[in-house]
Amino acid sequence: MQYDDTRAFAMALDQNDPLARFREQFNFPRDKQGRSPVYLCGNSLGLQPRLAVEFVQNELDNWKDYAVDGHFHSNRPWINYHRLATAGFAELTGAKPSEVIAMNTLTVNLHLLMASFYRPTAERRKIIIEDGAFPSDQYAAASQIRVHGYDPESDLLEWRPRDGELHLRIEDLEQLLQQEGDSVALLLLPGVQYYTGQVLDMQAICDLARRFGCKVGLDLAHAIANVELSLNTWAPDFASWCTYKYLNAGPGAIAGAFVHEKHHSGSDFLQGWWGNKESSRFKMHSTFEPAPGAEAWQMSNPPILSLAPVIASLRLFQEAGFGALRDKSRTLTGYLRWLVATRFGDRIGTITPADAGGCQLSLIVNDRSIDAKALFETLCELNVTGDWRNPDVIRVAPVPLYNSFSDVFEFAERLSAALAT
Ligand SMILES: *Cc1c(COP(=O)(O)O)cnc(C)c1O
Repeated sequence: MQYDDTRAFAMALDQNDPLARFREQFNFPRDKQGRSPVYLCGNSLGLQPRLAVEFVQNELDNWKDYAVDGHFHSNRPWINYHRLATAGFAELTGAKPSEVIAMNTLTVNLHLLMASFYRPTAERRKIIIEDGAFPSDQYAAASQIRVHGYDPESDLLEWRPRDGELHLRIEDLEQLLQQEGDSVALLLLPGVQYYTGQVLDMQAICDLARRFGCKVGLDLAHAIANVELSLNTWAPDFASWCTYKYLNAGPGAIAGAFVHEKHHSGSDFLQGWWGNKESSRFKMHSTFEPAPGAEAWQMSNPPILSLAPVIASLRLFQEAGFGALRDKSRTLTGYLRWLVATRFGDRIGTITPADAGGCQLSLIVNDRSIDAKALFETLCELNVTGDWRNPDVIRVAPVPLYNSFSDVFEFAERLSAALAT
């Protein structure tokens, strides 16, 4: 695509955008000092779909009108409400419907899934995460090692970029596995690295895990609803994702989990009554009879009010079609990358690999005469929302569902203005 640094060009792209109508289906934050928002923070908290408001209100009404009968007699009965997320999750993750479940929140799911898939022995007890992993994942992995009586100091390993490089190379993971022999029990790795925006080769990671006899879990926090996923084919043992980032389901909304079908006949997981199959759940007997598939991992009856926005949001993704979203996303983030390089190439760079493919671009200020944090704060005052990640990165992520090419152009304009002050 030949890009052009003019507002007219950006507006023309918006005019030809088949997904442009979805923008109106979201609530944008307020103007600041007469400036409309340039919201490029879907990687952290997606905007509110109007449909989510409707779905939450609907469940408040059902609670009011039906009380306990809402479990069976409302328009979307709570007894199997979680299933309304199944088709959408399966499509976005390339899983079979039986492999996905809406439950809990991300870090909780990582722990619950590790309870099944991290069973260290004296010989095979190590976990590999990536260098600079999201803190919650580091804490989760380290504490799992500790509760099993081992020491994260020696047993939590990091896959690192080479000296002088920023990105992870799959051949270095292979080398690490070769070097560690049979001592590695689990790989716990992201689909998209949150800091650099690098999209990892998840297929290769899963293949390596199998070759070296380890289990593998994927954290898809920044991958779901952002890049293509084929979980059933890649066959990690498990995966989990939050739904408030690219999935727009609101702060702390219910997360999703994946358990590959090869594990569905096992009974080695922590259990609660909502994982019992529906037909015998209310017989209240003492023997657990697992629901088929990943649903058996569900424990409690789900918080309907936090699940309602997930279901609303998934409908929008299904309506837009993920293929069309990806096509737009490549052009949209491509335009952002091109504009930043064209206008600010000598002063501002990006640490996101050129072929990353996701929405996110992690910008870094190369010009040492500029105070990067102050620049970020000026952008905030100009009503640009990205996010700052220590030590020195500004993340921006135009998303194809509600961002426009004009948003991207306006970002460049305000960045120019911020640099001029
Ligand atoms: C956003 C994010 C989390 C957040 O965890 P919660 O349990 O949802 O609070 C965890 N891990 C990664 C990699 C993330 O990007």
